[in-house]
Amino acid sequence: MRDLRMAPGTPPLRLPPVHVSEERIIRIDVGLRPFRPSGFRVEREALGDKVLVHNYGHGGGGITLSWGTAKIAVDLGYDASKPEVAVLGCGAVGLATARLLQERGARVRIYAKDLPPNTTSNVAGAQWWPASTFDHDRTTPEFRQRHFEAARFAFRRYQSLVGDAYGVSWETNYNLANRPITTYPAAEDDPMRALVVNQRDLAVDEHNFPRPFVRQFDTMMIETPLYLRRMELDVRQHGAEIVVREFADVSQVQALPERTIFNCTGLGAGRLFGDTEIVPVRGQLAILLPQPEVNYNTIGREGYMFGRRDGIVLGGSFERGQWSLEPSPETIAGIMAGHKSIFDAMRA
Ligand SMILES: Cc1cc2nc3c(=O)[nH]c(=O)nc-3n(C[C@H](O)[C@H](O)[C@H](O)COP(=O)(O)OP(=O)(O)OC[C@H]3O[C@@H](n4cnc5c(N)ncnc54)[C@H](O)[C@@H]3O)c2cc1C
Repeated sequence: MRDLRMAPGTPPLRLPPVHVSEERIIRIDVGLRPFRPSGFRVEREALGDKVLVHNYGHGGGGITLSWGTAKIAVDLGYDASKPEVAVLGCGAVGLATARLLQERGARVRIYAKDLPPNTTSNVAGAQWWPASTFDHDRTTPEFRQRHFEAARFAFRRYQSLVGDAYGVSWETNYNLANRPITTYPAAEDDPMRALVVNQRDLAVDEHNFPRPFVRQFDTMMIETPLYLRRMELDVRQHGAEIVVREFADVSQVQALPERTIFNCTGLGAGRLFGDTEIVPVRGQLAILLPQPEVNYNTIGREGYMFGRRDGIVLGGSFERGQWSLEPSPETIAGIMAGHKSIFDAMRA
């Protein structure tokens, strides 16, 4: 059995609190997670005489899983004898798919209605952990194995991007609770437990959070505005053309000159390809002025706090079926009040 306690002699943590006040808000972000209860769709099908490979529906984990589902999609659909390929979508999933295709020798053209910084991917927090990516009772063991394989591949790939160039870094998370924590980030018998690093349960005298149960673990963080800018540059430098274009229906997709098409349109896939399962799960974020001394994350009943270099991200709303991109003042006030109750009560 693993010893989850801190090593004897480790000094207690005295983390600096976040200053939560309305005057410190620099912006409010609203985004729609592309959620499918049965999980992401990575599937190959025929579109007339073309090959269409779907790669969408990653819910709250599309930044995390992007490289992994891209690998599955490219394995399914890329044929080196037909190197001209189209990628629909220029979010995290489309960009990772384009890069893996280029690494296999493909000549890629990306078509997208919106480019970074105007994609859902730009809004994401983004913690490297596939949270809220499916409803457990709607998935099969085969899907969960695929999900794990995708996560494992992406976990390694992101490690190769750690550093300032891509805005990927390691950070410590603190899960705060009033009861013992058993299932988050992963239960002991969940295969995903293999991707949890440096997990420890802290005793009350080992931390300064106002909660009796605190679990620490490390994850990578992806500073999405920087990461996506860099990924877009990478695909262009490797020869991709990016065409700004909105597709109204499948016939327009079928008319493209490329014979292999990767569909990475996120939530847009619902309307474009008639997928009635995909729904938005709206998330609202209050971004506060950066606090360079806050280089950790918290997750709890009140939502989450990500201590990013470009701002303190306060979030935690999961509103299924909500399409509006207008922020709700009540939701933002709730996120602010919940986090204020934590950080104002941190012991010195
Ligand atoms: C508040 C919030 C917090 C999140 N936090 C995290 C996190 O911590 N970690 C994590 O891993 N994930 C997180 N996510 C989830 C993550 O943002 C998504 O899963 C991910 O962005 C999906 O990427 P994508 O490339 O599929 O979609 P998008 O980024 O939406 O890109 C879709 C692309 O397709 C294009 N497109 C769509 N329809 C059409 C059309 N008809 N014609 C032409 N182009 C089209 C769009 O213009 C865009 O370029 C969060 C999301 C939100 C909203």
